[in-house]
Amino acid sequence: MKIGEDLFGGEVHAPLKTKGRPKVNPCIAVWGTGPEGTKCGACKHHYFRRLASAYPKCAKRGDTGSASTDHSSRYPACGQFEPKS
Ligand code: SF4
Repeated sequence: MKIGEDLFGGEVHAPLKTKGRPKVNPCIAVWGTGPEGTKCGACKHHYFRRLASAYPKCAKRGDTGSASTDHSSRYPACGQFEPKS
């Protein structure tokens, strides 16, 4: 759900939370599927939040600081996929 725009005109969405880590990429329900055969680990929006451990996150999903926004790098890519440079 879009809740506003950032300084550069990009869309800002409410964190896309799930209960636990889902088996499928929850972003696909919002933005559709990405390029065939690509995984979130190859997307520039995927990163690891490093604290005592490393927690996988998707910048497009948002980060609540909890497991509800953990995002596997093995998920199939969504329609917001952009390759890492
Ligand atoms: S493809 Fe990129 S934007 Fe889409 S869910 Fe994966 S990491 Fe997030």
